[in-house]
Order: sequence, then structure tokens, then C-alpha cells
Amino acid sequence: AKQAFVRTKPHLNIGTMGHVDHGKTTLTAAITKVLAERGGGTYVPFDRIDRAPEEAARGITINISHVEYETATRHYAHVDMPGHADFVKNMITGAAQLDGAILVVSAQDGVMPQTAEHVLLARQVGVEHVVVALNKADGADPELLELVELEVRELLSAHGYDGETLPVVRVSGLLALGGDPEWERALLGLLGAVDDHIPTPVRYTDAPFLLPVENVLTITGRGTVVTGAVERGRVRTGDRVEVLGYDGRVESVVTGVETFGRTMESAEAGDNVALLLRGVQRGQVRRGQVVAALGSASVHGRFTARIHLLSAAEGGRRTPVTSGYRPQFYLRTGDVVGHIELAEGAGPVPPGETVEVTVTLGVPVPLEPGLGFAVREGGRTVAAGTVLTVLD
Ligand code: GDP
Ligand code: MG
Repeated sequence: AKQAFVRTKPHLNIGTMGHVDHGKTTLTAAITKVLAERGGGTYVPFDRIDRAPEEAARGITINISHVEYETATRHYAHVDMPGHADFVKNMITGAAQLDGAILVVSAQDGVMPQTAEHVLLARQVGVEHVVVALNKADGADPELLELVELEVRELLSAHGYDGETLPVVRVSGLLALGGDPEWERALLGLLGAVDDHIPTPVRYTDAPFLLPVENVLTITGRGTVVTGAVERGRVRTGDRVEVLGYDGRVESVVTGVETFGRTMESAEAGDNVALLLRGVQRGQVRRGQVVAALGSASVHGRFTARIHLLSAAEGGRRTPVTSGYRPQFYLRTGDVVGHIELAEGAGPVPPGETVEVTVTLGVPVPLEPGLGFAVREGGRTVAAGTVLTVLD
């Protein structure tokens, strides 16, 4: 019989954000080192994090590095991005789906432009929980530390976070990485604050089940299998589901759940799984559709969105966008042609700008506010967006 998968701790997705050179990558390396020495994962050195391979998330190239580690109570996947543009694209497309963020601020430099921009963006895309790493605390004078802490708390409050009460922990990523016991303890303090302050995102597992279909396979003698990452909720053998989107809809019952070749009693948000679907023919399902708890998802062909047009330097267009523009929209695992309308009276929008638009899709797909997407044209990505409201 196949081996069973054992889940021991709740899983969270977090990431570092903050101004360039404030120490995000050093801190990320230090976290893996300090925890690895205590049985919480594998040390990932600075060079391996900073030279991460590029990833094509929804058709956009993003330099992003994933590390994983465990505290006593949690399993974390942690992302670190080398550049400001990588961070912006990642946040807008929702590629990382952060449950919380560690805002890294150098105590020696204070709040800088990208510090403020990342806080604003985190708020806009719905990252609700932030813990501050007041980094480079080694050698910073105590009065400066106080001042910078006040400044960061004010910035967070101004963007709707609980700036007065959220944890601000003084750390030195560099000296913790170097094995200094005082700063190793400070780093464990930061991780304790992350454990305590960033809640386990129960809403994703309590929400109705949804899985975007990445692949469809036929297993001789068993039937049709769909694969993908569970976006929300839980699923187990015997559950009634529907597969929908792109003018298709079929009801089914899940007759098997597996992950990396091991059987699972139940899969939940974040898990990569294969689902065996009873009575479904291979031609009835396709990539881009979603498998959802019966009656829990609906398809829509019109919505408002905030889109960021990539600049020419980021590989975007060279010319402005006007109403009537018809690019390809990449939503979850699928893509569909759509039509963009600008707000009434709005002039052409040049590359590099962010605007609110109304989108009409050629085929209705499962949609909801907060969903991230990419916009492509002639084989290249020209914009990243987020659904604001669903119209019909
Ligand atoms: P990132 O751009 O935010 O990822 O920053 P890095 O991790 O690449 O660090 C930028 C520079 O700051 C490097 O030269 C680091 O060695 C230095 N640095 C990082 N953390 C600390 C720290 O805690 N204390 C001191 N003194 N320097 C640090
Ligand atoms: Mg870095």
C-alpha cells in the first residue's frame, strides 16, 4: 500500500519586505541557520537565497527565493525577493499569498521610500499581519533605535495596521548569522513574535474547498485525475464537487486524494494534490477550471480591477493603453481574452502606471475580489492586476 502523508504542524506562508540593503536576505539566511541548529530545518546560506532561480508566476518573471523552516509550533514557507520590482510584481499577482510579513527596517537608516511602498502594497493586497525586524541593531545608538521604532510604528498605523501594539524586535541578522549568542537569542525572539502575532489562517481551511486545475491525467483502470495546489478549504474521499469555468461544468465525487505519491486522509489549503474524480471523462475537464465544493463557486465575465502596467524596462509595452485594449488575461491556471475599459474621461495610460479599469472576458471564469492575475500580449507580460469587484 502507498505510504500515508503525516501533517504535524500548521503551515504558514510568510516573507520579508523592506527597503533595499536593510538586511532582508541576511536575516532570512540567519533564521534558517539559527533554527537548523535547533532541529528546525536546513541552513540556507545567503548566496543560495540571493541567487535564486527566476520563477514564472502567471507568466511574469519574478526573482524569488523560497526557504522553509520550523519553529516549535509552526511550519513556515518563507519568501525573499532580491529586487523592489520583484516584490511589487509578486505582491500584485498574489504569487506568494502571504499570511503575514516580516518588515525589515535598518535601525541605522530608518524608514526609507521602499519601506513605505511595501507597507502600502501589503495593505492593498490584504496582508493583515506584520512583525517588524528592527535590523542592524548592533552598533546602533539607543536613542536612534527608539526614534526609528517610533517612525515605523507611525508608518504602520498610518496604513491601518496596529502600529502601536504590533511587535518590533531589535535584531542583527548579520551577527546572528555569525553565531553571536546574544543576537541568536534576539532572532529567536523575533520568531516567537511571528509565532504569536501572525495567526494561523484558519479561514483558508474553513472556507469551501477550491483547487485550480493545473493538469488532467488519465490513469488506466482508475479514471480521470486532476492535479494542482489546494487554494482553500479541505477535501477528502467521498466529497461532492463540481468542476467549472470556461463554459464547462460537471459534477463529481472525489474517490481518491494523494500528495507526492502518498495517500492523504484529507488535503487542505496549500497542499499539492492529485484528485481522482468519479465518472468524469478526460475531455470534460481542462487546465484553468477549478474543482470546488458543490455550489460554492461561481463564474463571472465582468469585473473591476487595479492593474499595474509594467514599464518598458520591466518588459512591458512601449505605448499607452486606451479603452478597447484586448489582451490575454491569466487567471489562476488558465487564460482568456478580455477587453479593458478605462474610467470615463480617462486619458491613455502609459507603461509604469497603476490604474483602475473594467474588464470584460470572452468566457466567464471563476472569480472573486482579491484574485491576482497577469495580462499578456504577443507572448509577453504587460501588466499585473488584482480583481476589485465582480460585476456579472
Ligand atoms: P537586502 O537588500 O535587504 O536583502 O539586504 P542584505 O541582506 O543583502 O544586506 C545588505 C547589507 O547590509 C549587507 O552588506 C549586509 O552584510 C548588511 N547587513 C545585513 N544585516 C545586517 C545587520 O544586522 N547588521 C549590520 N551591521 N549589517 C547588516
Ligand atoms: Mg536581498
